Amino acid sequence: MQPPARAYIGIGSNLDHPVDQVRRAFAALNAIPASRCVAQSPLYRTAAVGGPPNQPDYLNAVAALETALAPEDLLTALQAIETAQGRVRTVPWGPRTLDLDLLLYDQITRADPELTLPHPWLHQRAFVLYPLHDIAPMLMIPGRGPLTQWLAQCPPLNMARLDSQTHALR
Ligand code: AMP
Repeated sequence: MQPPARAYIGIGSNLDHPVDQVRRAFAALNAIPASRCVAQSPLYRTAAVGGPPNQPDYLNAVAALETALAPEDLLTALQAIETAQGRVRTVPWGPRTLDLDLLLYDQITRADPELTLPHPWLHQRAFVLYPLHDIAPMLMIPGRGPLTQWLAQCPPLNMARLDSQTHALR
């Protein structure tokens, strides 16, 4: 039997009680068939990047999964969780109850618009790089090199880590 793959999932929410949305997302990720959640990052509050003006802040986190699902089946499972948590696609980059991105799947690289790996903006977004670094500090981003190198170029502007117990701002 093949060993499971290691995938990293970016989680974001800025509607409908984002702390609860992210907590529910962690539980739902752990319940994906043939998969288990092996690490959860702290939560970060970040100002919205792009999209319509005056959006509420986002809560962001990253989960690590071990999975026997193929990448495209894992993406389908992520989209089902988004839908189950009430995501409605309106304006691009607009507010959302839950956004799940497949950031990395082992060391696979793929340029398919339906599933690009690594996720196209992963190496440029502080709200992904910092929580990813919390759970995988030695990570190599396929095709781009060490995570730490990208982190060093991406200051955590307009971003704060939440206390893991109270979820208050640190
Ligand atoms: P979004 O609005 O950010 O949820 O984008 C979802 C769209 O991006 C879907 O049509 C996906 O097929 C596509 N997509 C491409 N690569 C990825 C990826 N690595 N993770 C999630 N969605 C992806």
